[in-house]
Amino acid sequence: MKKGKLIVFSAPSGSGKTTIVRHLLGQSDLNLEFSISAASRESRGEETNGKDYYFISTEEFKKHIKNEDFLEWEEVYRDNFYGTLKSEVERIWALGKNVIFDIDVAGGLRIKSKFPNETLAVFVKPPSIDELKIRLKKRSTESDDKINMRIAKASVELATAPQFDVVIKNYDLQVALEEAHQLVKDFIS
Ligand code: 5GP
Repeated sequence: MKKGKLIVFSAPSGSGKTTIVRHLLGQSDLNLEFSISAASRESRGEETNGKDYYFISTEEFKKHIKNEDFLEWEEVYRDNFYGTLKSEVERIWALGKNVIFDIDVAGGLRIKSKFPNETLAVFVKPPSIDELKIRLKKRSTESDDKINMRIAKASVELATAPQFDVVIKNYDLQVALEEAHQLVKDFIS
């Protein structure tokens, strides 16, 4: 199978990486397909199984770990497991497309270390922790407890930014979208 490229977007929750990834998926010149992760959490809002995530039980998730089905996996939050199935990357490469990931920093760096030449690892930096808090509250999809858990993790995640190939500052969304598009375009060409 011909390998495509791997484009990783990682960032603390609420940094806007999902918005950037969705935007890039709409750009036909980039030939991207979204890597649908397996997740053991409940679906929220408008999320669809098989589109946003493969929602599976914790038991099923652990079975996949045991079978070594994952390229990478993380217990991103306590009892919430997320992972990239090897079969997902193979599915997308078989379509002749490049894979784009929206995953946490540890997972992103693991993919980079497994495929150093094929991967562009991008870190999306929010303006500040305070701004992150405001964005997560505005999204209002999680309880205060869960928001606090995500904020606590964000500080640790911000410290990993220098390990990525590129850091995009998401202070002005329009600017960040254009920068992301150009970066990916240059990398795949
Ligand atoms: P959320 O619950 O907000 O959808 O995702 C929580 C975090 O898990 C986000 O940072 C998201 O990018 C990350 N995530 C989603 N899928 C994966 C995955 O397959 N592997 C890893 N390591 N993290 C993931």
